[in-house]
Amino acid sequence: MALEDIKTRIASAETKAGRAAGSVCLIAVSKVQPNERIEAVLQQGQRCFGENKVQEAAGKWPDFRERFDGIDLHLIGPLQTNKARQAMGLCDSIHSLDRPKLARTLARLAQEIGTCPQLFIQVNTGEEPQKAGILPAEADDFIADCKGMDLPVAGLMCIPPTTEEPALHFALLAKLAARNDLTGLSMGMSADFETAIALGATHVRVGSAIFGERQPTV
Ligand SMILES: *Cc1c(COP(=O)(O)O)cnc(C)c1O
Repeated sequence: MALEDIKTRIASAETKAGRAAGSVCLIAVSKVQPNERIEAVLQQGQRCFGENKVQEAAGKWPDFRERFDGIDLHLIGPLQTNKARQAMGLCDSIHSLDRPKLARTLARLAQEIGTCPQLFIQVNTGEEPQKAGILPAEADDFIADCKGMDLPVAGLMCIPPTTEEPALHFALLAKLAARNDLTGLSMGMSADFETAIALGATHVRVGSAIFGERQPTV
């Protein structure tokens, strides 16, 4: 069973890194997967899931929440400010806080609604022009600004460049988090989650290794 296999691999990576059993949260990334596959993983007891589009999350998770208790939903993809309110109503965590305008919008809505999902600040560790995220050199100031707005910042998130050694990016993210007193580290995907755990990941985002390959979208 793919889910069991991933959980076993996470457990041995925790042990190998000298970390407590259960210290890493597995986010099963269900984007683009057919509902039957998601339901099968829910039936096996998994409750923590990740989606990368608000619209897609809105289409399936309210239903699943009615049928399964304890679902913990994470938005891991880019968030437009005009979808922030909807995302806050749907998700327990948002991993893509990547710019000042979004921080201000979330802060305003959090005041109005009285609650806010747990937030991860996305850092563009590879400084890739096409990729979202705060640049490493601007991370300290942005983190301080977010905390100053009373946003519940749980940690940092990154998606390393596909052409580079991910360990360097995970180590940089861990360093930025440590010097800003943040404990959450959302890093590691199907191909590299064990490396991420060795470098301190608290949340790994694993999609295809659990669900199988995603159908290509048009
Ligand atoms: C799709 C996605 C993942 C999961 O990727 P896999 O390689 O299928 O494990 C993780 N993080 C983000 C931000 C994603 O968009």
